[in-house]
Amino acid sequence: MNELEPQLGPEIVDKLLRWYDDQARDLPWRTTNDPYATWVSEIMLQQTRVATVIDYFERWMQRFPDVNSLADAHVDDVLALWQGLGYYRRARYLHRGAQLVRDEFGGELPTTAKGLRKVPGIGPYTAGAIASIAFDEPTPVVDGNVIRVVARLLAEPLQPKDKADVDRVWEVAGALVPKARPGDFNQALMELGATVCSPKSPTCLVCPVREHCRGFESGEPTSFPQVATKTKVQKWTARAAIIVNDAGAVLVEQRPPTGLLAGLWQFPTVDDSSGDDDLAGHLEAGGVEASKTQELGEVRHRFSHIDMTILISRWSVDAFEDLPDHWRWVSLDELEELAVSTAMRKVERVYRSHIG
Ligand code: SF4
Repeated sequence: MNELEPQLGPEIVDKLLRWYDDQARDLPWRTTNDPYATWVSEIMLQQTRVATVIDYFERWMQRFPDVNSLADAHVDDVLALWQGLGYYRRARYLHRGAQLVRDEFGGELPTTAKGLRKVPGIGPYTAGAIASIAFDEPTPVVDGNVIRVVARLLAEPLQPKDKADVDRVWEVAGALVPKARPGDFNQALMELGATVCSPKSPTCLVCPVREHCRGFESGEPTSFPQVATKTKVQKWTARAAIIVNDAGAVLVEQRPPTGLLAGLWQFPTVDDSSGDDDLAGHLEAGGVEASKTQELGEVRHRFSHIDMTILISRWSVDAFEDLPDHWRWVSLDELEELAVSTAMRKVERVYRSHIG
């Protein structure tokens, strides 16, 4: 136990565990000790709200119930199932990770946090979560919730983006995590941050560890941790071209395998452009000479730190060469099956509204 922080003794661990036993939300990934299920849920929960994840998690576990079924799937099917959750890199890593576990570890996830780190996409947080929840390893986990709770318990102005401060939280969380029920303890700490010790209005009066909290004692718990300056939102204007052939199929392109929305399909689009010439040039680069015939409207979409307005127009083809590999004609039914970003689904809806 942590000798440096006398108020963080075994008592706080017991109180948190008792509170967790009473108050823990009933979530589908908490009904199992399957390390694969823990892995999937932890990756989905990164940057996504619990309420959103529940349906995705259940669909995912039905479609890919174990490591091997995920590893054997085509990446397009994996991305299609992830569609709408955002931050698609997470799905690619899960898929790649499953392939490594199938090929290198016979389909069984390593049982320690250290071993789990060898799997692509499993960082210190996910490794700690899987090892403690599924394999009872007394190893800590630190996420934004834990940083906030620890910063308040200690009343230290820790900064979530400062490496030394985050290391300090790992150290404290590592000293706290008990040998018995480490997974429940880690989840309790995160749950406390998610439901009671919230960023703007912590409900200290119902907090099970209030007596141990220097932040509460200070009268200003919300001054911990220190608020980081926000990443500036960039405004982009994208242009998307709807091109339809005689059979009613639409032209789509696949985004590059790395970078923003990697590998997803879309109507030919320039992400950040100053005019239609950019879009015409983009089409030409794909071997398509086309002219704009109609404005169809616009949609707005916000992801990560980009606030994007997509201007949608219809184009007719004057001439085209053989399409490159990452361009295709697809029917609207086939488009349903492709992995497409949420922003592009909005564009598709605008197009469908014009064809009735
Ligand atoms: Fe957070 Fe208040 Fe509990 Fe301290 S007492 S951990 S500030 S909710």
